[in-house]
Amino acid sequence: IDRRYIRNFSIVAHIDHGKSTLADRLIQLTGTVAERDMKEQLLDAMDIERERGITIKANTVRIDYPAQDGHTYILNLIDTPGHVDFSYEVSRSMQAVEGSLLVVDATQGVEAQTLANVYQAIDADHEIVPVLNKIDLPAADIDRVAEQIEDVIGIDATDAIQISAKTGVGIPDVLEAIVQRLPPPPEGDAEKPLKAMLVDSKYDPYLGVVVIVRVIDGVLKKGQRIRMMKTGGTYDIDRVGVYRPAMKDVDELGPGEIGYITASIKQVRDTRVGDTITTEKKGCETPLPGFKPSVPVVFCGLFPVDSAQFDDLRDAIEKLALNDASFTYEVESSAALGFGLRCGFLGLLHLEVIRDRIEREYDIELITTAPSVVYHLYMKDGEMRELSNPADMPDPSHVDRIEEPRIKATILVPDDYLGEVLKLCQDRRGIQQDLTYAGSRAMVVYDLPLNEVVFDFYDRLKSVTKGYASFDYEITGYREDRLVKMSILVNDEPVDALSVMVHRDRAEQRGRAMCEKLKELIPRHMFKIPIQAAIGGKVIARETLSALRKDVTAKCYGGDVTRKKKLLEKQKAGKKKMRQFGRVEIPQEAFISALKMD
Ligand code: GDP
Ligand code: MG
Repeated sequence: IDRRYIRNFSIVAHIDHGKSTLADRLIQLTGTVAERDMKEQLLDAMDIERERGITIKANTVRIDYPAQDGHTYILNLIDTPGHVDFSYEVSRSMQAVEGSLLVVDATQGVEAQTLANVYQAIDADHEIVPVLNKIDLPAADIDRVAEQIEDVIGIDATDAIQISAKTGVGIPDVLEAIVQRLPPPPEGDAEKPLKAMLVDSKYDPYLGVVVIVRVIDGVLKKGQRIRMMKTGGTYDIDRVGVYRPAMKDVDELGPGEIGYITASIKQVRDTRVGDTITTEKKGCETPLPGFKPSVPVVFCGLFPVDSAQFDDLRDAIEKLALNDASFTYEVESSAALGFGLRCGFLGLLHLEVIRDRIEREYDIELITTAPSVVYHLYMKDGEMRELSNPADMPDPSHVDRIEEPRIKATILVPDDYLGEVLKLCQDRRGIQQDLTYAGSRAMVVYDLPLNEVVFDFYDRLKSVTKGYASFDYEITGYREDRLVKMSILVNDEPVDALSVMVHRDRAEQRGRAMCEKLKELIPRHMFKIPIQAAIGGKVIARETLSALRKDVTAKCYGGDVTRKKKLLEKQKAGKKKMRQFGRVEIPQEAFISALKMD
């Protein structure tokens, strides 16, 4: 295939600005899918991804487009993961293409993820074509949003294409712009040793692992024996093909092309995003630059509410891990919660997605313990230890200092809510780095501890700005601070699943808030229950849950039997979601709710 007639591109956008809808229109208009097979959001395969409007895995589709110049072009669209947790995966997919369509909702304007994603495209030296979407809506403000693209992002928006991905207006212009304004792939050499980038991989129950690849040099063919340069694995290629968007085998993939291979690879873990694929014999010598394995940054414990379901939980996690190499898990046992799994995730959304899938697809109710970041403990004997579970905190007298991960957070918000946002960031130990205006919106940049963000920062941000703020972050490094482990004692028993690492200056406030919350959440028992927060042996906050005075059914006046029965049944149902801690029953939701600060 002549590289001059290939265009490889991605679409970058803030969530809900119309990326998937535009991809659907491109696929539809070029007849890539027969009209009768057209269903919405062709590229967002998984239900949960559709529901949340996010893509976790990169998807790709090859489109044939007969352009106005008389040539038929091959357009390869890579749909990248749309969320900050997966920014490394995004940066790799960006390296696999030469251009991007920058989609901005003309009724909303530039948002935090627009910026984060477009910077990734700029870093990858992409040619960028701005596209203003949703012009069918009366609220569309084309001039203002074009100006914003120029002011905030700094790219020329005079030739921005105006479209409605919904009605189809402007889609032919997008196709022409892809051909005319985006560059073809750089010249590769089909005669050279094979060099291909591993863009992403997914698990298929029938085919095993399917790998998305971008060929740089050489040719990929069925029957070749290949080697992954970083992981060292060798495999025989079974199938080579392209997505249209259904899988279709082809004879070979040459320089500049994007497609898939299967090679009896057992698990996604054996395929690392960003790895270089070459032939086992006479392979290329230098791998592609910039490979780094993704590491989990947020950890939490997942315990079944019904402890008999532990084996089911482990099976579920193993199945999910088949398709996602980026989370880790190991068996954890907690004095209070019994057996569970300690899991590591790329970020909070990643955690939520996995947790939701376990609850929904495998029907296991979970207790999720407080999410924790990874702390670096510098011990007095010179050793550095990583701490991802507050329960494992060693005796502080052996610790010289503790460092915690910091992030650079970018928040875009309408002026009216700026004060609220500044207050929230300040409350979370943030250090303001930048504040600029674009029209009536402010862009603030804060340096924040990741541990202040992993919990409910995003929810709080949405609520104090009535949903108008957008947020994105990247991890910048580690810094020392005065951090301590705070334990929670219920009826004088420490509940390890509620232990958290906190800043010393905020410990009293957090401790008090947690005790108050728990007092509301734990039902009264026949005896008095002290609820305490402590650092080391020292109690810093305390609440007391008073004893239950009367039998709850007493208020049914004895007479109405069905009502009494109902009440008892309701209590029983409620019980199922409780866990016993010594003599006290704590409801499932307490573990998460106790940590929310408001
Ligand atoms: P994504 O998160 O960027 O993939 O956004 P989607 O493609 O899922 O679109 C988000 C929502 O905006 C959906 O409800 C779409 O139907 C709607 N939408 C997308 N494009 C347009 C458009 O041009 N006009 C209108 N009115 N709605 C649109
Ligand atoms: Mg989408």
